[in-house]
Amino acid sequence: MRLGAKRAERLCRKCGSPLETDEDICRTCGANNPIPLPWYTLPLGLVLWAIVIGYVVDFGDLWHFLDMLLGNAGDAPAGSAD
Ligand SMILES: [Zn+2]
Repeated sequence: MRLGAKRAERLCRKCGSPLETDEDICRTCGANNPIPLPWYTLPLGLVLWAIVIGYVVDFGDLWHFLDMLLGNAGDAPAGSAD
């Protein structure tokens, strides 16, 4: 019984030795063979990151802070207590 006989085999791009599916460093020559990522990896990562940022960041405060940076807060007297 030959396990993995039909599995698409990756080869080291330097020496041509067969690599395991999750192996990125060649055991024969030590060359780095990055595991190919599917095209949706980057967009999916950005979407997940945006969701996390959306939950973590309080955008109301952020806009207020940006408003202050842009100088709009100068309308109100800075030392006024009321
Ligand atoms: Zn190699």
